[in-house]
Amino acid sequence: MTDLVNSLLYLDGVTVSFDGFRALNNLSLTVGHGEMRAIIGPNGAGKTTMMDVITGKTRPDRGDVLFDGHHDLTRLDEAAIAELGIGRKFQRPTVFDSHSVLDNIVLALEGPRGVFSSLFARLTEPQHDRIDGVLETIRLTDRRDALAGSLSHGQKQWLEIGMLLMQEPELLLVDEPAAGMTDAETEHTADLLKEISKEKSVVVVEHDMEFIRMLDTRVTVLHEGSVLAEGSIDTVQANLDVIDVYLGR
Ligand code: ADP
Ligand code: MG
Repeated sequence: MTDLVNSLLYLDGVTVSFDGFRALNNLSLTVGHGEMRAIIGPNGAGKTTMMDVITGKTRPDRGDVLFDGHHDLTRLDEAAIAELGIGRKFQRPTVFDSHSVLDNIVLALEGPRGVFSSLFARLTEPQHDRIDGVLETIRLTDRRDALAGSLSHGQKQWLEIGMLLMQEPELLLVDEPAAGMTDAETEHTADLLKEISKEKSVVVVEHDMEFIRMLDTRVTVLHEGSVLAEGSIDTVQANLDVIDVYLGR
């Protein structure tokens, strides 16, 4: 079932304990090249801990975590893992409010050592094209000169996704992207992630079933640190164990 060779991301038997409590309990999961995977599960299921393990923030007690078949993520630090091409979007947007949308995007290109405004003149033609492409993808082309602080909550989330895209990750991890969004923004976000997943692998953690349905992709249900069910949204929503966990208590 777990196919190492064809997986971009491969987790096998991953266990993480906090003071004896197992946040992840023998978790096994694979994500293919170019696949978008939705991860759902009740509060405390281990979703964020799983992201922490993949990005090197938390070390598992046991288990294998491999990227692209051969990079052992349990032995790399967070910077090295980001360098490999794993980008993570946290729940809270961390854009620079007092700078323009464009400056934020340019800064993402240069990394933290970049200096605003002086950069733009030095960009190459392909870099300009990439910036235009990303602005288009995140639907902020006509807001490029607006201050990031003036954007709506949803637009800030998209800007941050755009900043991640500038680093050209192979795998994008997104934690609860639709939280706090309007219905229209939520729909936009689903479209945006679907577009991104044409070129990259994407792992999306969400609570919102309606949002997951919009993503129209394979769903993994986590519960108590392990996989409870996996399949289409219709399959998992009809699964009796899943119904029990979500509704039965
Ligand atoms: P989810 O994101 O699915 O809501 P988490 O991965 O955040 O779940 O948490 C899984 C479980 O692990 C929860 O019971 C949480 O309280 C516990 N946990 C997470 N991080 C820590 C930590 N640093 N120390 C102790 N317990 C933690
Ligand atoms: Mg969480």
